[in-house]
Amino acid sequence: MQNLRREFIKKSSFVILTSVSSTDLFATTRKIKKNDLFIAKKDYKVFHSIRNKLKLVQNYIGYGNFNVISFDTMLYIAKRAPKIEPFTKDEIAFLEFIFYYNPSVHGFFGNRINNNITEKINKKSIKKIPYTGHYLFKGKSEKTYYEMKKDIGDSLTLTSGIRSIVKQTKLFLDKINRVNGNITIAAKSIAPPAYTYHSIGDFDVGKKGLGYANFTSKFARTQEFQQIIRLKYVDVRYTINNKDGVRYEPWHITTI
Ligand SMILES: [Zn+2]
Repeated sequence: MQNLRREFIKKSSFVILTSVSSTDLFATTRKIKKNDLFIAKKDYKVFHSIRNKLKLVQNYIGYGNFNVISFDTMLYIAKRAPKIEPFTKDEIAFLEFIFYYNPSVHGFFGNRINNNITEKINKKSIKKIPYTGHYLFKGKSEKTYYEMKKDIGDSLTLTSGIRSIVKQTKLFLDKINRVNGNITIAAKSIAPPAYTYHSIGDFDVGKKGLGYANFTSKFARTQEFQQIIRLKYVDVRYTINNKDGVRYEPWHITTI
């Protein structure tokens, strides 16, 4: 791990990953491990500016639309919309880096799903799921979701559907921010932008009214989850101790 990291930092022209002492973090509340990787201090400004612009773009086009927005559309909106500044060269370089780097350097071993940062989601292949703010791909994802609702009941809801590369980037960067810049910890709960199965069909379900607890182990104790594991056509992707290095996610449904 140590050697891998050194080599990685040397090769990279845009160094965002670094191993730092706790005094360099945004805050110092979390326990860190010796080999954890962090956003480099010199990149804090770019990092926070990107997060702010992504938020403004999301506010501008709306939560639902943002879930399926392409990289080029995001750049276009930032450039044209009032009160949003265009993404700078450094910010685009950072975004490209966070898309193209190999996260195995910090212990994330999932498969790369998207190879090109400008990949678009075909709007004809997706369907908006009423009252959720989320989309699903027509075909297996949509069918599985509605079958689950039929078998489990109306208390089951879609908590996260299709996520474009841009949406996943926002989630990943926001998570990194919440864990004080620690990329190693962030990647255990949010896959890096190119590594989410949400971009090709997986989705998350939850119990209506449970809120954020739907994304914690509390979900595994709900009646809804007990019913899910009895359904033969449903698989949960991230089981306990999965080889991808991702935490246990009882709410994440595999469709691929
Ligand atoms: Zn998920």
